[in-house]
Amino acid sequence: MPDYRVPKNEQILDALKSIFLRRRTVSSQRELKKLVEKELRSDEEFKVGEQRLRHIVLDSGLLDVDIHCRESLEKRHLSKCPVCESKLKKVRNLTVFGGTVTLGFKCPRCAYWSGLRKRVPMRYVFTRR
Ligand SMILES: [Zn+2]
Repeated sequence: MPDYRVPKNEQILDALKSIFLRRRTVSSQRELKKLVEKELRSDEEFKVGEQRLRHIVLDSGLLDVDIHCRESLEKRHLSKCPVCESKLKKVRNLTVFGGTVTLGFKCPRCAYWSGLRKRVPMRYVFTRR
């Protein structure tokens, strides 16, 4: 048996609401995770995974999520969003020859986008809406 509990989605949402009553911004995903776990702690320890937390935040619409990325040298066609796992849309442009050319990728669900050189998410900033 682990010595911690896994919180339900509603518990996480309640924790997020109280945290963002007190502050406007949390400037990393790790910090947000720590704050949520601290908020939930009573006589029991709670743990939440960073990726699960990010998904709950995106689904909730409670917070703006800024995605800071670095551009990698890798040129690759992306199909899945590295932030929220939605299917990415191609951003295309017409060419003078009447065809189309892919300029990059955009997520229909979150703020992630990338050019042909893959942008790799490095840090998330969460701000109260
Ligand atoms: Zn996304």
